[in-house]
Amino acid sequence: MKASTNDNRFLSTLRALVRPVVQEWPLWLTMLLTLVPVSWQSLEYHWRWFHELPAGVFVGMVCNMSVVAVVATLIVWLVTKLPHRRLIKTLIYVLLFVQWVVALFLMRNFHTSYTPEVLQLLAETNRGESSEFLRTWIVAPGTVRALMIAGFTLLCVLIAEAKRRSVASFLSRPVPTILTAVTLAALLLQGLWLGHKLVMPYHSLYDLEIAETRYHSTDVISTLHSSLLTLKFQRQETHKAVELAVKEATTGQATCEADSLEMVLVIGESYNKRHSSLYGYPLETSPLMAAERDKGLLTVFTDAIAPYNLTSVTIQNMLSLNSIGHGEKWHELPMWPAVMRRAGWQIDLWDNQRDFMVGETFAASLNSFLFAPEIVQQVYHAVNDTVCEFDGDLVKHYYGQWKPAALRLVIFHLMGQHTDYGSRYPHTTDWEVWTPDEVPAAAAPYIDARRRGIMLDYARATLYNDAVLASILDHYRDRDAVVVMLSDHGEEVYDYRDFMERDHNPDKTAQMVRYENGIPLLVWCSPVYKQRHQDRADALTRAAGQPFMSDCLGQMMLWLGMVNSPWNDSTRNVLHPAYRPARRLIYGGLDYDRLVTQRP
Ligand SMILES: [Zn+2]
Repeated sequence: MKASTNDNRFLSTLRALVRPVVQEWPLWLTMLLTLVPVSWQSLEYHWRWFHELPAGVFVGMVCNMSVVAVVATLIVWLVTKLPHRRLIKTLIYVLLFVQWVVALFLMRNFHTSYTPEVLQLLAETNRGESSEFLRTWIVAPGTVRALMIAGFTLLCVLIAEAKRRSVASFLSRPVPTILTAVTLAALLLQGLWLGHKLVMPYHSLYDLEIAETRYHSTDVISTLHSSLLTLKFQRQETHKAVELAVKEATTGQATCEADSLEMVLVIGESYNKRHSSLYGYPLETSPLMAAERDKGLLTVFTDAIAPYNLTSVTIQNMLSLNSIGHGEKWHELPMWPAVMRRAGWQIDLWDNQRDFMVGETFAASLNSFLFAPEIVQQVYHAVNDTVCEFDGDLVKHYYGQWKPAALRLVIFHLMGQHTDYGSRYPHTTDWEVWTPDEVPAAAAPYIDARRRGIMLDYARATLYNDAVLASILDHYRDRDAVVVMLSDHGEEVYDYRDFMERDHNPDKTAQMVRYENGIPLLVWCSPVYKQRHQDRADALTRAAGQPFMSDCLGQMMLWLGMVNSPWNDSTRNVLHPAYRPARRLIYGGLDYDRLVTQRP
């Protein structure tokens, strides 16, 4: 008898807790389903391209819904407490549907969401442009489909509202109550964990990027929050950097000793140098670069690192003349391509990541600098307007429009070995070499067939990259030229633990930074360059073992290009006898050398 009273008390407490959600289930569910447009998009993508749905897509969808669940529960709780319940509900539905139509419109026409770019466009578009925009897009097939989906959703909501009471009374029975309570508790806990990033303090874009990688959710609330913050920080940092670049390119004091010289900078992506045969990998993944090394034309640097394991912030530091070890931020000193431009160089930028994941914080933050209209106008001579599935085609595309110039630098930013390694090389007999069994792997229990397959794809993507680099060198064999190749950061590919890609845990270990921050750095001199500038070619050979961090790349580029400016500093130039390497501070303050030498 007593037990049953306890049971009843337990049940009635549960019932009271879930009551707002049970009573207003159509509203609650509508919020959950309409505030995760990106999840619907990836669901559709997998449906269409793979004809099967990986479980991860559903898990991702539930995770994305969890942040919304917290907000939705709060709202239905308020709705049940406030007067004028019907009116308030109608207003919320109207807002939800406006949002849903906009989200579907963006998704169906542009495959995008509330990204920083979209918000910026909205903020910058004037009335004339927007009416023209609407006239163009209102009849597009995507818009029609978006409206059809929204109409269907509305129909479902109307039916749900009509059945609201009967379903609510069913849900109030003992078993459904317990199930609802358990599901809701799990969703809310997950949502609070993922959603606490919405109230965390942020001091920089880097803070935001780290939070994004750790508490990733693509629901509308999280997306709007990070897009608005991204815009705020970007404006501050990029504004300063762009101003400095334009000032340098137009009024700086820079001269060039050479009157005919060409340079190439190749920025690779997620390159784990230990998977290159140049750095000791047992499979011949870099045969063409090894041949250049054996001819005495290519210098392989053995101790180069990147200051972060993220694309945007490493490239911003790489292209600016700041030195992290001297406490300088990337946006406090000008970009060195602007210095070269001022010294008479023609600068081209061919970026294969220009359209890549443009909705993510990192891409927005990098592109707003690399492709700032003022920089495109004042610093570059030409930039690419299309991207290619494979890096080799981007290189071909560049040289298809290439004409000889006296002083020219081209910067290639490749897709390299970015995650999804199997998509980074063409699946033809040239690149489908080796078998999973031939892949060198640690003798560890986690190395199974699937992981071997991923490692094989990484090896093939590295081999393809080797050919892409060689195809660039081929254009300069008879010219006075120097080609510098490095990666934005490293990568893990099941090297010493069951993990691939990059770890954004702030507690770094020696192994983590060895693999994720260690980068390849290769410098190729054409035979003509070697002959004409023997001192510089010799300096390369001497410096190959020096500690180097990619934030100081600019000093090396200016010196190899024989550019003189007030920014040149021999103590920061790895190729100069006066080089005094600053402490290699990674992730804003961690001493790389101390970490890798003191701990195993
Ligand atoms: Zn990267």
